[in-house]
Amino acid sequence: MMKKFKVTLASAFLFTLTSFGLQAQDYKTENIVLITLDGMRWQEIYKGADSILVDDTGMIETPGSLLEDFWSLNPLERRKMLMPFFWETLASKGQLYGNRAYGNNVNNSNKMWFSYPGYNEVLSGFADDERINSNDKINNPNVTLLEHLNKMPEYKGKVMAFGSWDVFPYIVNEERSGVPVNAGFDKAEGSDLTPNEILINRMQDEIRGPWDGVRLDPFTHHYAMESMRKYKPKVVYIAYGETDDWAHGNHYDQYLWSAKQTDAYIKEVWEFIQSDPQYKDKTTMIITTDHGRGTSKTSWKGHGASIPIAGEIWMAAIGPDTPDSGEMKTKGQWSSAMIARTIFQLLGMEYPEEKAAPAIKEMIK
Ligand SMILES: [Zn+2]
Repeated sequence: MMKKFKVTLASAFLFTLTSFGLQAQDYKTENIVLITLDGMRWQEIYKGADSILVDDTGMIETPGSLLEDFWSLNPLERRKMLMPFFWETLASKGQLYGNRAYGNNVNNSNKMWFSYPGYNEVLSGFADDERINSNDKINNPNVTLLEHLNKMPEYKGKVMAFGSWDVFPYIVNEERSGVPVNAGFDKAEGSDLTPNEILINRMQDEIRGPWDGVRLDPFTHHYAMESMRKYKPKVVYIAYGETDDWAHGNHYDQYLWSAKQTDAYIKEVWEFIQSDPQYKDKTTMIITTDHGRGTSKTSWKGHGASIPIAGEIWMAAIGPDTPDSGEMKTKGQWSSAMIARTIFQLLGMEYPEEKAAPAIKEMIK
């Protein structure tokens, strides 16, 4: 009860400041695009394709050649072959955290090291190992940053989420938060569907994909892109999922193809941002993952508390208020729980949840 009162008071105060034209801080960020790649390892982000896995994947069935497309003896070349947008644009105009070779460490603050606890942490700003300890479809008791924003007059109805995994409506607590979540095999809805949405809806029926609760990422990506063009939301969350599912199936080839495709999708999102007057130079994009995974030939497939390093993760950012430090090489410890407060600070506000982790001060000019 007490907490609720404080939150309301804080929002009212900020709203008053804003309506007088007095921003709490002089930041340029007005929009946020938050992106996650499920179970994408920091090892590939920073070193590219892994030598112990890359030639062990039945590449004959793969279009093209894994070695030709992803292999070089030089890890700096390899990572560029895998994620060109990360290593061209983010590395020159943004920031990349989590290269443990420099002691630049990012970890989950939860101890579960699987998806729901990871996403709860990113979206709520704190770990909750007591209550969030399974991937069951249970409505999140915690209020996410998306829900906090959607309750504010300035952002109400301008927050949208898209995910490949069908648990996201529960993680975001779509019911309570009022944040629309297009996830799993959800379609675009409404009476004013665009020709693109009609086509994506139809193709989603026709292309079932390999998994039950997770659709292929192109659907998630194109629904998100079309909604950004159509509704111009101020806050967008896009959760790509393929990398984790291919990894569980021991398909290292598909894991790499998917990572490379997601890099291209993120590039497309960023290029759209920088071409649209509402978003251009007023949008910060933050990218991370929900957990890490193992490193051996068998443990790379999995994650969870039984794999000691599966809590090692990474994150990246680009935007008008973020220094262009590129690959972060300073020693330090960060966590994905820090993202929620960072996002609020970029929007000129204090995050209303006291127990949330501190903001990432290096990410804000
Ligand atoms: Zn998984």
